[in-house]
Amino acid sequence: MGIVVENVSKQFGSFQAVDRVSLEIKSGSLVALLGPSGSGKSTLLRLIAGLEMPDSGKIILTGKDATNQSVQERNIGFVFQHYALFKHMTVRQNVAFGMEIRKLPRAKVKARVEQLLELVQLSGLGDRYPSQLSGGQRQRVALARALAAEPNVLLLDEPFGALDAKVRKDLRAWLRRLHDEVHVTTVFVTHDQEEAMEVSDEIVVMNKGRVEQVGTPAEIYDHPATAFVMSFIGPVNVLPSTSNIFQNNGFDSAHPEMFLRPQDVIIETSPNGTTVAARVSRLIHLGWEIQAELTLDDGQVVTAHLTRDRFDELNLEPQQKVYVKPKDAKSFPLYYSI
Ligand code: ADP
Ligand code: MG
Repeated sequence: MGIVVENVSKQFGSFQAVDRVSLEIKSGSLVALLGPSGSGKSTLLRLIAGLEMPDSGKIILTGKDATNQSVQERNIGFVFQHYALFKHMTVRQNVAFGMEIRKLPRAKVKARVEQLLELVQLSGLGDRYPSQLSGGQRQRVALARALAAEPNVLLLDEPFGALDAKVRKDLRAWLRRLHDEVHVTTVFVTHDQEEAMEVSDEIVVMNKGRVEQVGTPAEIYDHPATAFVMSFIGPVNVLPSTSNIFQNNGFDSAHPEMFLRPQDVIIETSPNGTTVAARVSRLIHLGWEIQAELTLDDGQVVTAHLTRDRFDELNLEPQQKVYVKPKDAKSFPLYYSI
């Protein structure tokens, strides 16, 4: 195992930031810590790094109990959202800094810097200063610098959070390819579910200092363990289970609420099996996808997502009468905190 977190808790004053978290992160994998702001992601990352000490529990890194080790002893690479590169140093000097401190032979440092710049696709920019780089390029320098020390573990705290959407998307794909080359055990913090799904082998969903679920992106999406995970990982309609859309079709539930993904709403133009009548109250065109707001006979409002092809096939118009049923829907027992 690359990283084992064993029943770790951390309190700030009377606030429980991390609450009895246990986790196993496989050696060489890329894992996302995903959760809303304040859910304890950064605190957990800092506990793994040794920047915070746990109140209880253990951190085991590459098989060794690291709970009482210093940050330096843990040999960790770090990249934060606002990673301050040394402004007065060139890209090359920034990347070399850690190796020079450790007094590695000059020739070795030089070769390693060039290799790292190539890895992060910045060969040719080695003589620039940070102010002469774009935000995305700066974060790639930060990553090269973090990798220079050949860390056992790479920890990234919202590394692309401050960049604009397009750059962020490019960097995600780039990070995934980079990881496939270097295979260093990596923990990546994000509050963006799409980013987590796109980049990681496994996702750890956090809420209120606790782990709600651990799984591959597909497992988390298709088999959410809790109502929180289902709502956080993608858009969802939350409807009373008494709504007539769930009657006579096997989805009536013992629990008061049903969770229905917008793409699991089947729309027909004539009654079909167990469909119920609805009215198209609003249509939103998003290019390849169309979002339809439907008002059911019982007054409940349901959002449906359709592909462009299906939309054209149905020839939907605002105010049109349609017939709908769920393809899939889930319910969850009420969540009790223990
Ligand atoms: P996330 O990264 O998921 O947004 P954090 O781990 O940063 O969440 O914070 C979790 C909670 O712990 C927040 O409510 C935050 O205010 C609190 N917290 C984090 N660090 C400290 C600290 N050093 N002192 C007091 N409270 C803190
Ligand atoms: Mg954070």
